[in-house]
Amino acid sequence: MKEKVKQPTDMCLIVTYRCPMKCTMCNIWQNPTEKSREITPAEMERLPRVKFINLTGGEPFVREDLEEIVDVAFRKAPRVVISTSGWFEERIIDLARRYPKIGIRISIEGLSEKNDALRGRAGGFDRGLRTLLTLKEMGVKDIGFGITVSDHNSADMLSLYQLSRALGMEFATAALHNSYYFHKSDNVIANREEVCRNFGTLMEWQLKERNPKSWFRAYFNSGLINYVRGNPRLLPCEAGLVNFFVDPYGEVYPCNGLEAKYWKESMGNIRTMTSFEALWSSEQAARVRDLVCHCPKNCWMVGTAAPVMKKYLSVPLRWVVRHKIESLLRDKELSFRGVSGVSPSSGRGRLQIPRESLVRNLQMRDTEVTNVR
Ligand code: SF4
Repeated sequence: MKEKVKQPTDMCLIVTYRCPMKCTMCNIWQNPTEKSREITPAEMERLPRVKFINLTGGEPFVREDLEEIVDVAFRKAPRVVISTSGWFEERIIDLARRYPKIGIRISIEGLSEKNDALRGRAGGFDRGLRTLLTLKEMGVKDIGFGITVSDHNSADMLSLYQLSRALGMEFATAALHNSYYFHKSDNVIANREEVCRNFGTLMEWQLKERNPKSWFRAYFNSGLINYVRGNPRLLPCEAGLVNFFVDPYGEVYPCNGLEAKYWKESMGNIRTMTSFEALWSSEQAARVRDLVCHCPKNCWMVGTAAPVMKKYLSVPLRWVVRHKIESLLRDKELSFRGVSGVSPSSGRGRLQIPRESLVRNLQMRDTEVTNVR
């Protein structure tokens, strides 16, 4: 008997490929959607109820009907987060006034000069930061930074993390990669050592924090180091099982990391499906899940890593316990020697732990708990 496929819990809606930014690592802006062909709020009504929806683009705030889209999204899920460049300050503030429970993640790729160079628009950093500060003052809680880490900005990532901590905001990391979605095939991290060393510092800071959420973020970042080094994923990819992406034309994909040179197939289209349930349990969806199982990309992105971190919780949990204890022991050892430990507040100049060995150490441990498939 055919096994019943569980309903998904996480959905990401790419509401447009239009974008005012000109990022160096993403060519969406050169390949915009035609406004008239973009998925409509009425079509979104056909989507299932889930626990979490991410609205992204392109730049979602170019959609004049974004309020209607958010309206539908909140009827479909209790938590809705919009990923944005932060370019349209007033539109973001107006939307947050109407939906104070909305989550906002602003992509900031470095400190002022670096961000504006990588995002191709002068003033982007100022707009993004000012928007976050205004949202904070308005009492919007679910706000934060998002950064795609590359050779160019891994050191700035640490400064931005310190800023996010000082402001009490979330901080989401991703590693530079290629995908059909970005229309990019030449993104590459050449200086792996430096990028991994900076991720290692970030992890050490996160392990020292009191909030267990930060410890699991450290685990997620260990997965990014693993990815940058070209190793197999820490946990299997199950994209298209509990999560899915919908592109602006209504195509349903398991993730946004696909590349045609490996494989790229849609599970179906919400415009032509008889029902979402039928699409989700179709032979084509099963075929795509099979392709996911053998996907050679090994990427590690929050949208597809978070669901398996929850599903195989014992793996990150063991990692967290072990590394938290080791972090405490390192602190103790340092305090015996009269040296300050590592934390964002202690300043990077006083770092005494050999970061290379920490990263190497973490890396070896990761591979020990990798194979849970
Ligand atoms: S490894 Fe998973 S998330 Fe990455 S491209 Fe392949 S299917 Fe998508």
